[in-house]
Amino acid sequence: MKPMKTLILHHDDCLKHDPGPRHAESPARVTAVLNGIRNIPDTELLPAPRATEAQLELAHAPDYWKRLLEMEPQRKDPQSRIALDADTYLSTGSIDATLRGSGAACFAVDQVFAGKAKNAFCATRPPGHHANTVTAMGFCLLNQVAVAARHAQKAHGAGRVAILDFDVHHGNGTQDIFEDSPDVLFISSHQMPLYPGTGYPEETGCGNILNLPLPPGAGSVEFRRTWSNNGLPALEKFGPDLVIISAGFDAHLSDPLGQLELDDEDYGWITSEICAYADANCGARVVSALEGGYDLDALSSASAAHVIALTG
Ligand SMILES: [Zn+2]
Repeated sequence: MKPMKTLILHHDDCLKHDPGPRHAESPARVTAVLNGIRNIPDTELLPAPRATEAQLELAHAPDYWKRLLEMEPQRKDPQSRIALDADTYLSTGSIDATLRGSGAACFAVDQVFAGKAKNAFCATRPPGHHANTVTAMGFCLLNQVAVAARHAQKAHGAGRVAILDFDVHHGNGTQDIFEDSPDVLFISSHQMPLYPGTGYPEETGCGNILNLPLPPGAGSVEFRRTWSNNGLPALEKFGPDLVIISAGFDAHLSDPLGQLELDDEDYGWITSEICAYADANCGARVVSALEGGYDLDALSSASAAHVIALTG
């Protein structure tokens, strides 16, 4: 039997979402990621399919989705870009991009449950973890990890799903979506104070939310300590059938949007720890999706460290 590979899912539609010329969440981000991870052994690049409406509606209100569809500009000129909040935009092509993101995550879930891939990384944009059931926010339109978690439960009978989020920002949208769902564990490490202003340890949902805030200037030692002492033991106690990673690389030392000081090795470390858990306990099923990361060089090297760790 051939050793199973780490799937990389991408589609050029993800380059079509255009929040503006000076916006940090640029199409160049996925190009940087793909440049960083190309030629890593034991990976296989496949095209990301579009999510179906039925998949999106597992995590988003049908009215919200229809509103986005109706609002998408039909002309490719900068004046037609629609602001959904102070830093979240809808351009021509945004719908295709975000559909590929959620579609990639659902397809990745299908592949790992079918035993066709060891695990998977979705090199897609825009990010998703600030979007909740009915609101676009913080660069995010659809919450691909939330859609994928519900898809795993509905299509594959996953009883329990853990979503682990190491983006520098709190995944408030994911927390909102699952705060009353004991079958989904959400663990987030993030800088505090920082956008979006949530993610206090007191926010515990129905006992299924674990927030691990870190102060500005915290780096490798603090990050590894909180995951070793708090995050990973909670994952083990929960015992999921699938682990989904909200893989943001903006806690990197070089990132312009955060003040945490992680390096590439920290991303390799946390990924290896998560995979070691999954290898021993849930058939190695790990699906990772790109969230933030705004320094292109750091994004490239940190995502490479992440994918190398996924390949084992
Ligand atoms: Zn972020």
